[in-house]
Amino acid sequence: VIGVEALAAKIRKIPNWPQEGILFHDITPVLQSPQYFRLLVDLMVYRYMDQKIDVVAGLDARGFIIGAALAYQLNVGFVPIRKKGKLPFTTIAESYELEYGHATIEMHTDAVKPGTRVLLVDDLVATGGTMTAGAKLIRKLGAEVVEAAAIIEFTDLPGGKRIRNEGVPLFTLYQNS
Ligand code: 5GP
Repeated sequence: VIGVEALAAKIRKIPNWPQEGILFHDITPVLQSPQYFRLLVDLMVYRYMDQKIDVVAGLDARGFIIGAALAYQLNVGFVPIRKKGKLPFTTIAESYELEYGHATIEMHTDAVKPGTRVLLVDDLVATGGTMTAGAKLIRKLGAEVVEAAAIIEFTDLPGGKRIRNEGVPLFTLYQNS
């Protein structure tokens, strides 16, 4: 039987990518394994199947992969939150700080409605900037972020705390210090 520990071990660590000093956590070995991809999605499905989720919102780009599979299994729709300049219809935007410089993400204004119960999904939480910005977009449209979910949370960074401080519950399958 495979579990969360094995799933975490399946994530490949790449030193000094995309730049010197960064240890990148590469989830592609999980995605390309039928067993591990299913385990990942199923663990999330079990958590959310009885939580009355109306829609899954996925963060560009790995949040699309996990989020779309999850939305399909939960029998709800999927909404992409994209990097600036990619969405064709009217958008709202949220900017946030990165380690170097800043980033902007966008969401279609008709993607969620006031009161919609949204599950926000990404692969990983580092500084928490991306997840926090995503939650702000959803809330700007009057919808509710039921929870933010990711595979990994780096507990040596304040990301998890930052997200929870915004009043957004955070669920991660694995915590890595
Ligand atoms: P944060 O905004 O929390 O600092 O960074 C998380 C965002 O950057 C997520 O969208 C995530 O996909 C990406 N990211 C940052 N570091 C890594 C990493 O080591 N591995 C992966 N897969 N994504 C990362």
